[in-house]
Amino acid sequence: MKIHEYQAKKILRGFGIATPSGIPCFSADEAVEAARKLNGGSWVVKAQIHAGGRGKGGGVKVAKSLDEVKQFAGKILGMTLVTHQTGPQGQVVRRLLIERAADIGTELYAGLVVDRGSRSVCLMASSEGGMDIEEVATRTPEKIHKAFIDPLTGLAEQDAAGIARKIGIPEPAIAEAAALLQGLYQAFDDTDASLVEINPLILTADDHIVALDAKMSFDDNALFRHPEIAALRDLDEEDPAEIEASEHDLSYVSLDGNIGCLVNGAGLAMATMDIIKLYGGNPANFLDVGGGATAAKVAEAFKLMLRNPRLEAILVNIFGGIMKCDVIAEGVVAAAREVKLNVPLVVRLEGTNVDLGKRILAESALPIISATNMADAAEKAVRAAGSASTSVGGV
Ligand code: ADP
Ligand code: MG
Repeated sequence: MKIHEYQAKKILRGFGIATPSGIPCFSADEAVEAARKLNGGSWVVKAQIHAGGRGKGGGVKVAKSLDEVKQFAGKILGMTLVTHQTGPQGQVVRRLLIERAADIGTELYAGLVVDRGSRSVCLMASSEGGMDIEEVATRTPEKIHKAFIDPLTGLAEQDAAGIARKIGIPEPAIAEAAALLQGLYQAFDDTDASLVEINPLILTADDHIVALDAKMSFDDNALFRHPEIAALRDLDEEDPAEIEASEHDLSYVSLDGNIGCLVNGAGLAMATMDIIKLYGGNPANFLDVGGGATAAKVAEAFKLMLRNPRLEAILVNIFGGIMKCDVIAEGVVAAAREVKLNVPLVVRLEGTNVDLGKRILAESALPIISATNMADAAEKAVRAAGSASTSVGGV
């Protein structure tokens, strides 16, 4: 689960991390009020969305007067902010953070992630902070310094100080920087985070270290231990199809292709997406209905896929083990009757009760294309999606 910058900064302040003073707002009038409360002569108006790259997309503006705060707040609120992390459709801005403008000396970078290779948390830091860290990582990876943290000892002061020196922090600020990096690790560990990223981490003109931006993501499986963090979930920032899927206990991820996939088991779902790709197609979603799905749950899954306007074919790929093929077939038939099935449907069933499942599909009189194996199914789905797009174009 992701949270907003202002929420992450609040959590981090609890771990002793210095941030500029700021106030979240929902309207231009609130923004002016917030700036007035914060005092000072310049402020930063920051769009709050669950994606980075806001600065480049026009979602972060320095205001030199209360009039400018009002003007920028009015402009940014409600805009569809497109950044390299939102995808081309962008994200509508509904919240702002008004912050005191900081006196930036140098922009640095600090991030913590779970590193599966070393089975530990990895601290990454760089002198090249700011808005282009992805480029730094690609072009000059030697400028990103890493420390792998032993979970038993945590981030030792001397290791934190070592990293701080490597990213060019001057000696008088080393102790403060080391304490900040240790605080970041503590925050990461205590909140069961999967990512903490400070970009930029700044060295101010008077040699203090301040987190100017903050991004945190959390391990969903550990959220039950942190109800106060779970309460920060902002459904406006999430894909409506994925929210609905989670309500029905379905694992669903929207993708940008045109072939809907309904599969039982995450491994088979991955393999199905791979084989669609192999045959030149693109999956519209990942969908695992799980091992013990009921016909009603399958029907919900089916309806969810059918709501996607880009959908041009559906591939149902079921290996009946615990999940029986007849249950899947009943769910597919029920959903196809309830929602108008307007795209070709390719079904591959194998395993427990396969004959019964196939009979249910055949007797339904739905225009189902049946497939004998995965390769056959993928090929048919890709072809069906292709012909669907030509016929739509031709109408
Ligand atoms: P994003 O990473 O989404 O672009 P940031 O919070 O990193 O958003 O802001 C982009 C840039 O705006 C920063 O690199 C920094 O130069 C500037 N900035 C952000 N917050 C402040 C602030 N409080 N004071 C001064 N400049 C800021
Ligand atoms: Mg940033």
